[in-house]
Amino acid sequence: NPRNALNFSGGPGVLPAAVLQQVQESIASVPGVGLSILGISHRSDWFAAVVAELEDNIRSLLGLPADYHVLFLQGGATQQFSMLPMALLAGRKHAADYLHTGYWSGKALPEASRVGPVRVAWSGAAEGFRRLPTDDELHFDADAPYLHYVSNETVEGLQFHRMLGRDDVPRICDMSSDFLSAPGDYSRFDMIYAHAQKNIGPAGVTVVVLRDALLKAAPDNLPGFLDYRAQIAAHSILNTPPVFAIYVVLLVTRWLRDQVGGLAAMDRLNRAKAALLYQTLDSSDGFYKGHAAVADRSLMNAVFRLETPCLEAEFLGAAQAAGFSGLGGHRSIGGIRASLYNGLGLDAVEKLVEFMDGFRQKHR
Ligand code: PMP
Repeated sequence: NPRNALNFSGGPGVLPAAVLQQVQESIASVPGVGLSILGISHRSDWFAAVVAELEDNIRSLLGLPADYHVLFLQGGATQQFSMLPMALLAGRKHAADYLHTGYWSGKALPEASRVGPVRVAWSGAAEGFRRLPTDDELHFDADAPYLHYVSNETVEGLQFHRMLGRDDVPRICDMSSDFLSAPGDYSRFDMIYAHAQKNIGPAGVTVVVLRDALLKAAPDNLPGFLDYRAQIAAHSILNTPPVFAIYVVLLVTRWLRDQVGGLAAMDRLNRAKAALLYQTLDSSDGFYKGHAAVADRSLMNAVFRLETPCLEAEFLGAAQAAGFSGLGGHRSIGGIRASLYNGLGLDAVEKLVEFMDGFRQKHR
């Protein structure tokens, strides 16, 4: 759409144009249904089929065996910060292992501490969250009820490019900002959660996949809405779910499979976008300074600074005038952040780096 800015927002983020076209049609009338997507009953057979197809798509994209449940929940990733310790940590003697690698893992931690014992296995706070731990710095507790970490720290632009933890302790990961961006050995995770509003859809729905055995010791006195077992029994339709958001996520998974060609193809495109942007930072003679250590930088969020806050403000103003949106860094750290989610095309990044090179030449 030529009237739209190129969207580098940290989230809600850009969605593929082909999906937005279908969404637009579905607001008028869903093909084969004859109703607007905004007015279809969550108790209809049609919607039950949407949920079932989406479960299948996620299961097959992630390569999950049959003993995993796939849930579509509300409350965002933030609700999972509480819901998961309520099921897995309440009343336990041994502490869960949490990694503190940035802003969002730092939000998960205190929520878990309200519910049960937590051990911070590593923290990057003293170094300003500019890097992730090496294997030598990590010692995971064999008795922990689970390990929790964030695969991609959206604010700082730090991403783990390997799997953490031990196979004899449940591995739980917040993948909100890199979900379905690359292939991986996902059945080695006992639980993964990701809100939709970055890589896979609009805000309002959070995907949770979890292994059935994980819940065997969950308490029986949880509020029904916050009990995974109740949500599993109701096939994610315990109450009125976000029908629209779930439908859009279904369209995105079809697009990933049929148009993009699956997660390996998505990863190749994501790597090409990130390489272009980081090359521009690296060849700028320090004009653009990356926040994250090179080995840990994210394929999804490139965070960088310019010499002064004043120059950053000028950059953001000029970028906006040139048709780029969402480049301001997170309010907690400022600077610049270019988010390169699945829905962003390589052409948008080509235009951004051209703009960045031009801006640098004018100011040097
Ligand atoms: N985890 C990560 C990695 C995030 O990036 C965010 C939000 N950007 C959250 C959790 C919180 O998500 P929500 O706003 O859906 O609760």
